[in-house]
Amino acid sequence: GAPITAANVDNLSQHFPLCMKHLHNTLRKNNHLKHFGRLQYTLFLKGMGLTLEDCLLFWRQSFKLLTDDQFNKEYRYNVRHAYGDVGGDANRRGRGYAPYSCQRILTEHPPGTGEAHGCPYRHFSVDNLTSMLQATGVHDRDVLRGVKEDVEKKRFHIACNRVFDWAHKQEIRKVKDEGIWGPAELETIVHPNTYFKRSYLLKN
Ligand code: SF4
Repeated sequence: GAPITAANVDNLSQHFPLCMKHLHNTLRKNNHLKHFGRLQYTLFLKGMGLTLEDCLLFWRQSFKLLTDDQFNKEYRYNVRHAYGDVGGDANRRGRGYAPYSCQRILTEHPPGTGEAHGCPYRHFSVDNLTSMLQATGVHDRDVLRGVKEDVEKKRFHIACNRVFDWAHKQEIRKVKDEGIWGPAELETIVHPNTYFKRSYLLKN
């Protein structure tokens, strides 16, 4: 598959769960993201295997309206901090912060107006969620109905897994039939980076 570099993030975003697609789309639309969005997205990119240098390059190029000087003053440090390149206690030095799990995204810092972090299954209205799913190619009525039922029961990550399974059904059937993947590789996804990695492996 496409190597994990700054130049390929647009292409790689086809493998992102909805939370990260929303951050990516918002970043492309506004040339900016607010603090918690930057943090959630930076840690996800790190978890994907994007190097610190590429992550800095990605943000620098994405914030199109900023000068290098503004970027370096206001944003560079936080990206390096997330990667553990600067700051933090001895424990985190060199490692930085762990990418957020679904549990964390679902329960911490609900997004306010103008913020794009969080989980669309949890933080969007059903109408907005359905529109976003359709915009990303999920048109199957049974899937959309299932998602609606899941979110009504507050089973947000189950809705996300439902969409994953539908969007990768041919690939999943193939790896199962060929005995390449078993139940361990297909456990319920509870982390955005697992979603990405599984999709990336299945589609390549
Ligand atoms: Fe992201 Fe997890 Fe929500 Fe899926 S369930 S959209 S991976 S936070």
